[in-house]
Amino acid sequence: MSPRAGLCSFATLLAVALGAGACSKDEYVAPPPATSTSDVADPAAAAETLAALQDSIDGGDPSTAAGLGADASSRDLLSAIVANAEALGLGDVTLRYVTETGRTRGSGAWDAQVALTWRIDGHDAASARTELPVSFAAHGATIAAIGGPGARLPLWLSGPLDVERAGDVVVAVAGDASRAEDYLAAARRAVRQARAVVPGGKGLVVEVPADPESLQRTLDTAPGQYAAIAAVTAPVDGSRAAGSPVHVFLNRSVYDDLDPVAAQVVMTHEAVHALTEATSARQAPLWLVEGFADYVALRDVDLPLTRTAGQIATEVRKDGVPPTLPLDSEFDPSASHLGGVYEAAWLVCVTLAEHAGEQALVDLYAKVRDGADLATALREHAGWTEPELIAAWQDRLRSLPGVAG
Ligand SMILES: [Zn+2]
Repeated sequence: MSPRAGLCSFATLLAVALGAGACSKDEYVAPPPATSTSDVADPAAAAETLAALQDSIDGGDPSTAAGLGADASSRDLLSAIVANAEALGLGDVTLRYVTETGRTRGSGAWDAQVALTWRIDGHDAASARTELPVSFAAHGATIAAIGGPGARLPLWLSGPLDVERAGDVVVAVAGDASRAEDYLAAARRAVRQARAVVPGGKGLVVEVPADPESLQRTLDTAPGQYAAIAAVTAPVDGSRAAGSPVHVFLNRSVYDDLDPVAAQVVMTHEAVHALTEATSARQAPLWLVEGFADYVALRDVDLPLTRTAGQIATEVRKDGVPPTLPLDSEFDPSASHLGGVYEAAWLVCVTLAEHAGEQALVDLYAKVRDGADLATALREHAGWTEPELIAAWQDRLRSLPGVAG
């Protein structure tokens, strides 16, 4: 697999956030409870059970949490949740009963929507917040399950995690933890590489769900949406509000098959997104966001252009140079020629750095990410108009190995 494949799905993330429309997860509108639920549900008892779980998470008390489980598997889950919270260093964990969902199971068992907040102390500037279904049993005295179809399930609530940390990097691995040390090493190197270009004090959190289905639940995405990508940088609760925690999530079914160089390129690319808060950039064109992440990720990598720009070279030889810079729509993970689009975006940033210097590229990226007009920033930092940038980039594309002749 080429190192370009599945580098990123920032574009997908953007599409998801924009497509959420008027009723985002932050504005959950509770369905009216079915009349039958009122015979079963005991919201006061359920709220007490949630408070007891919150206390045991705060106090690091897995045995009390386990005592709130309705059966062996829920006892194991609740105990694991307390251990996860402690290992991750979670703060501001709150669990609040919202309403019945209308779903009941036998006598004394029903599902309720529960509001949740949490953050990793020392990493997340603000708390993440979401709502998810919790299944209560024994008239609210116990918890039978957490999560449900169509709801975001934060990784730390999904089962036992292996948490590795070093310096200001945290890696949380669900399922098979045999590669946890590799993920941690790649994440630490990614932070060093990103900071060499974009200094900053923020740390990095990498979450590794057990399998693609778990990744889908963790990010609340459509099935298969991230099937082809190796990693994604995304707000943990889906919110694009400033300060919302942004972590890197690995799709281990793709990431684990990458060779070590490609895996490092992916990790560093995502670390650049996370450390520069690229997910909150609303105006920046994706060629700049993605191209800059690849510029940093490939900066210290000794790979030939035939490998880092092979797909765009083939396209240029066949169809000539593109008339415009890559459009945002071309970064859709389901679009054809996605690899070539990422390569083309990377080469725009290479062209800029070769012309005006690396610091000019870094400054231009920061300005445009923070909302500055591209044309103004281009003039200020590179002394170019957009047509001049396009012409220089097209020349760069024509000079790629395999294009001429
Ligand atoms: Zn990306």
